[in-house]
Amino acid sequence: MTPNKEDYLKELYKLGGSERLVSNKQLSQTLKVAPASVSEMLAKLNQEALLTTEPYKGAKLTKDGIEIAVSLLRGHRLWEVFLIRHLGYSWSEAHEDAELLEHVSPSRLTNRLERFLNYPAYCPHGNAIPDQNGQIKEGSLMLLSTLEAGKTALIKKVQEEKELLDYLQIQGIEIGSKVTVLAVDAYEGPYTLAFKDKTIQISHKAACQIYVSANDECL
Ligand SMILES: [Zn+2]
Repeated sequence: MTPNKEDYLKELYKLGGSERLVSNKQLSQTLKVAPASVSEMLAKLNQEALLTTEPYKGAKLTKDGIEIAVSLLRGHRLWEVFLIRHLGYSWSEAHEDAELLEHVSPSRLTNRLERFLNYPAYCPHGNAIPDQNGQIKEGSLMLLSTLEAGKTALIKKVQEEKELLDYLQIQGIEIGSKVTVLAVDAYEGPYTLAFKDKTIQISHKAACQIYVSANDECL
């Protein structure tokens, strides 16, 4: 299977395609490819029984499609842990090279990598790593952008997108760290956060891509 096909399955999964139909439009926006190419590829994957399509509604993964998508995510996230922990990669560098490595990692390799890393539960960006049976335990999280001024929460996960990852890492954002929202500017203005011993500002757009959990002890 070509990486291109695999990327479709993975993106479909990330957009919720294991449970519901994902529209061609959503896929074409995420993958940044023309709608015509999306339709063509979905037809091929449908023929291979990796997904089912419904005219004008979109596509949903089959059991086989889910299995491939989950094993790609497992490889991706384990490699990210390795690259950051052992090779000194930055957040975005790790994501970038994990995109390549995930396509050339048979389960023998990812299983040994997982053991070598001592069974990490999350990738460095906070995404849960599926276990050997493909099970993922995702907690329920909310977006930082939904918090009002005065609230405190723990940063749990960030979207894996190069520019965002670089931006957040420069700001010193870390998974598991505690933030307090000091102020939210009107009209989708910046969020002022108390974080560690400093005050930082992040854009509204970034706040919409950071997931937090309101830990009891923080409230
Ligand atoms: Zn990651």
